[in-house]
Amino acid sequence: MAHARILPREARQILTRTGGYLSGFTHSLQPYVGCQFSCVYCYVREMAVQKANPYRLPWSAWISPKTNAADLLAKAAVRPSFGGRRIFCSSSTDPYTPLERKLGLTAACLAIMAEHAPEALVVQTRSPLVVRDRGVIARIPGAGVSFTITTDDERVRRWLEPDSPRFRRRLEVLASLRASGVLVQAALAPLLPCDPARLARALAPHVDRVVVDDFFAGDGAGGRRSAVALKRLAAEGYAEWAQPGVAADRLDVFRRILGAERVVHSESGFNDLSWLGVAA
Ligand code: SF4
Repeated sequence: MAHARILPREARQILTRTGGYLSGFTHSLQPYVGCQFSCVYCYVREMAVQKANPYRLPWSAWISPKTNAADLLAKAAVRPSFGGRRIFCSSSTDPYTPLERKLGLTAACLAIMAEHAPEALVVQTRSPLVVRDRGVIARIPGAGVSFTITTDDERVRRWLEPDSPRFRRRLEVLASLRASGVLVQAALAPLLPCDPARLARALAPHVDRVVVDDFFAGDGAGGRRSAVALKRLAAEGYAEWAQPGVAADRLDVFRRILGAERVVHSESGFNDLSWLGVAA
């Protein structure tokens, strides 16, 4: 993993109202701005957070921790309205970006929510570091971990997600979270070239459900923010994985192996919080 410049900041707010793709949530929570995982396909590269970043550094070459994240959340969490918040953590960073190991900003926010629970909390990550916080997540009613697993093909993973954990390591994380009583969703988003049946069989013992998505619906811009990744997929011989409907066309495989009740799709799936016991 390349070294990222650390650019601490004092944030004005920690909860941001959601819209668009995350319609089932009321707010997103981002303890960091930027992300150190440097996924080749990351659509956040095409968003203002990177395009308008004042540091003039490439994506993943900088990381900006919100040093006052816990203070801001502690103030928000004591308001009566907080109990009605549906929080997605996080939408344009990974809350377990490697700097979290040292700073513990996400951990501090979780500790606050263990005392003042929102209505729902989805912790979205691809990092094994989430296991560190499994105890506190398990104590938050209406909380679960959505863990990114995009492929079972290590060649593809090394190519498109060189800084992300290996497939086998991710399965261990799922197992560990579940053993601690944490609700677990595998986010196959975006679904990358893989063996869908083999992937579904590997996930089956370890997940409460899976959500499957592709670049077209998942990047919030009909695939435009993923244009570079889509071109590279096609150029490397994966043209069929760079078409709209790549996730929808494979849902049947996942449903056959995991059961239809454990497979949801794209935006409607991400926003369906029934797996957390939270009604629509
Ligand atoms: S972990 Fe998510 S936010 Fe970070 S680089 Fe990868 S896709 Fe982007």
